[in-house]
Amino acid sequence: MKRGLRVVPVVLCLCFSPAVRAAETVRMERMNWPDIKKAIESGCTTAVVGVGSIEQHGPHLPTMTDARISDALAELVARKLGGALQARTIETGLSDHHLAFAGTISLKPETLRLILRDYTASLVRHGFKRILFIPMHGGNFETVGRFAAEARKAHPGIDVTAFLDLPGLTDFLGRLSAEYGVSKTEAGDHAGENETSMMMTLEGGLVASERFAPGYCGPFGGAEMRLLLEKGMPALSADGVLGDPRKASAEKGRIYLERLADFIVASVGGTSGRR
Ligand SMILES: [Zn+2]
Repeated sequence: MKRGLRVVPVVLCLCFSPAVRAAETVRMERMNWPDIKKAIESGCTTAVVGVGSIEQHGPHLPTMTDARISDALAELVARKLGGALQARTIETGLSDHHLAFAGTISLKPETLRLILRDYTASLVRHGFKRILFIPMHGGNFETVGRFAAEARKAHPGIDVTAFLDLPGLTDFLGRLSAEYGVSKTEAGDHAGENETSMMMTLEGGLVASERFAPGYCGPFGGAEMRLLLEKGMPALSADGVLGDPRKASAEKGRIYLERLADFIVASVGGTSGRR
């Protein structure tokens, strides 16, 4: 070792200084138990958990898309909330309507409910007082919402909550893309400009841009959603895309993630954000 070079141990202080917090990890999967315990005892009593999916996202995005975006958003939300740590993302969700495409893995609602139940019990045992689930896959919202209500009864005094504003989320993403001249149908609900931009910034090496092509770009309301859930994605889109990824960019993706995290933080707010 060169003289004068000393390894200085970094004291974990996640809760008191935003500057220090930003430089440290909030990911419990990357921390050891004494540091996690110390952080909880210092006031980091919120646990943030992304709930994603492993499902087809067209010919150009990897099947981890929702899992990766949920994970990135959960980390951003934990940092922006302060006093929070991120628990390992629940990567697999409810994706029966995508099973016609290779690689999709789907849980039954009861399986996801049991995973959420066991996550919550573990986190409560460690001393977390607020557990915030962030589902970033449309198919998960209902199960996560029902679970959160049930868990609040099972754990009195613990604020088990979730970001559940799916219509608000869709609307917000559409408005973000509109700022860049991208229409709502291009932005898309599945593997369109919006999600593709976010994946270009998170996992650019896995985005097959040579395959960018418009998917289903027609109206997408209640009737289309019912068709999607009852008959599966191929009834709407042969290649599994709702939207058009051709205007996607990594730079926009970075901005979308930041602003989406701000939107989620504003939506869930303090403890009154429970839904
Ligand atoms: Zn997705």
